[in-house]
Amino acid sequence: MSTTPFVRKPLAGDAAEPAVTPVVSPSETTLIRKPKLGTGRTRKKDIPEGLWTKCPKCSTLIYDKELDENLKVCLKCGHHFPAGARERINSLVETCSFEEMDAGMISVDVLKFTGVASYASKLASYWKTTGLKDAVVTGIGTIGTFRVALGVMDFGFLGGSMGSVVGEKLTRLIEAATNKELPLVIISTSGGARMYEGMFSLMQMAKTSAALAYHAKARLPYISVLTHPTTAGVMASYASLGDLIIAEPGAMIGFAGPRVIKDTTQAELPAGFQTAEFLRDHGLIDDIVPRLELKERLVCFIEFLLHHRGQPSQR
Ligand SMILES: [Zn+2]
Repeated sequence: MSTTPFVRKPLAGDAAEPAVTPVVSPSETTLIRKPKLGTGRTRKKDIPEGLWTKCPKCSTLIYDKELDENLKVCLKCGHHFPAGARERINSLVETCSFEEMDAGMISVDVLKFTGVASYASKLASYWKTTGLKDAVVTGIGTIGTFRVALGVMDFGFLGGSMGSVVGEKLTRLIEAATNKELPLVIISTSGGARMYEGMFSLMQMAKTSAALAYHAKARLPYISVLTHPTTAGVMASYASLGDLIIAEPGAMIGFAGPRVIKDTTQAELPAGFQTAEFLRDHGLIDDIVPRLELKERLVCFIEFLLHHRGQPSQR
């Protein structure tokens, strides 16, 4: 490697460029130039990575341990960071009370889908990096004093996309809740249907909705909790079918993206469109519940709904 001064080091984008000799003033050839301060592309970080996280809303640096202890909610401004399915479950259920269902269920690459990378290789990579088998964890656990069927999605697994495993695990959970006469809580976060599974992913919308209809017929409560972001096929099926629909503060919730809606309606969208707060003010969401209050509020909601359960529908 050449270390000769003043020889322009080729950059990646220079390969096809003709060689150009830089114009160098005589003074630069005889004097040692001082490095310019403040023009470097990277600054030396004096904070080790992985210990601190910067809040995207208030720019406060938060010690990761404190952030985890605060359920991934900024201690200063209350910004809700993404949380994984396992940590959400741990924050809600009583210790050792969660019995997971269908933990080993995995997707079959029926379509042999290949794009930039094959679906099979993507699945294998997510299994390894997330420790999850798919984008939802389901099971029965105790919240407060109530046995509850609980399903929690994880955006970290392929964008929380709903494929056949998400649909099947949730359907089995809903059916178990109906058979055991349990209240149901589903915490959603999703980019929508899993395109790698084509029609099989779209079928899950109807399947989960049908299972919920039987659960509703038995007059059992279903609380849907929407977290950032909950969109598309998930929002168009089980996420919007709760007896109570609650959301985390600031969550983006919607079916199609704002650009698509704007192009279709040819109208300016109102400020705050598709946020949890906007949707609560316009009646789609019943309440906004901060993550730190979720457990306590769920217990109250379940108690109220079970108390006012009424008779199962005969229809
Ligand atoms: Zn903050």
